[in-house]
Amino acid sequence: MPAETLYKVFKFKIMKINRRNFIAKSILATAGTLISSKYTFAKEPLKLTGKKNKPVVIATWDHGFDANKVAWKILSKKGRALDAVEKGVMLTEADADNLTVGLGGLPDRDGYVTLDASIMDEKGNAGSVSFLQHIVHPISVARLVMEKTPHVMLSGEGALQFALANGFKKENLLTEKAKQKWKEWKKEAKYEPVINIENHDTIGMVAIDAHGNLSSACTTSGLAYKMHGRVGDSPIIGAGMYVDNEVGAAVATGMGELVMKTLGSFLIVEFMRNGLSPQQACEKAIERIKQKLPDYKNFQIGYLAINKSGETGAYSIQKGFNYAKYDKKGNRLIDADYLLK
Ligand code: ASP
Repeated sequence: MPAETLYKVFKFKIMKINRRNFIAKSILATAGTLISSKYTFAKEPLKLTGKKNKPVVIATWDHGFDANKVAWKILSKKGRALDAVEKGVMLTEADADNLTVGLGGLPDRDGYVTLDASIMDEKGNAGSVSFLQHIVHPISVARLVMEKTPHVMLSGEGALQFALANGFKKENLLTEKAKQKWKEWKKEAKYEPVINIENHDTIGMVAIDAHGNLSSACTTSGLAYKMHGRVGDSPIIGAGMYVDNEVGAAVATGMGELVMKTLGSFLIVEFMRNGLSPQQACEKAIERIKQKLPDYKNFQIGYLAINKSGETGAYSIQKGFNYAKYDKKGNRLIDADYLLK
């Protein structure tokens, strides 16, 4: 099936699958006011006026709750945010019951589990892997790319070779559960990828440690039943996640193509640099999708952000995005606010 037809099928599919009835909110009249009316940008570069809250870790979706516990063990002992986010998301990667990350992730339409991941530290170092197969912990391979190579991203066979050369084991990631789901899908879905809200479950995690340093990690098996070779936003630095230690950090989940076209995580950090709170920055990045990508209503995107003061924000296009937050007040799941009410 040609890519364009496939994409149209994607869109049709979600409209069919989506059980919720979204009523578009008519917002602002002119493009000019759309850009400037909701928020006033600070004239000066970022000023930190908020009370400091650290350490803090936030992570996408329900699975963020348990991942946060692992991260918090490190953060509460004054450990490094980078270690916290890597170890935190590793829990989700190793969970064979989780159908959207690492081991047990739903395969592409040809039955291959292909993984994307990225990580970034407080020094602005970044590493990622895309289209990686057979490795349970792509996030750790991404970290090694960051720390041991002069590069930022390794992909496919090359990423696998690099992982094996560094002691990672080659494993079968397609669990019986995922295989059965793929087989069912093949019968009924006529070789079309499934895009719906329930299907978007990347784990993205951002943290600020006791020293005030920020890091983020993002790891996924990507869109279920995607075309073989498809890479999403998660391994793209600035799309799936981004960190600027002077300002803040952000992560994305949802339909990666929309995040890539608007470079969502980088955009959120830049909005924070210009004086917006993490919440306002996430909202503004969703608003950008609305402005630029007319079919946004058919998809889900969720953003999380944290700033240098440890303030956090979250926003999505559709209802249903949640995240876990762990700070001195404890670990809790929070429903994010959203655009289409
Ligand atoms: N962002 C991921 C991708 O497009 C999907 C997800 O968040 O579940 O690959």
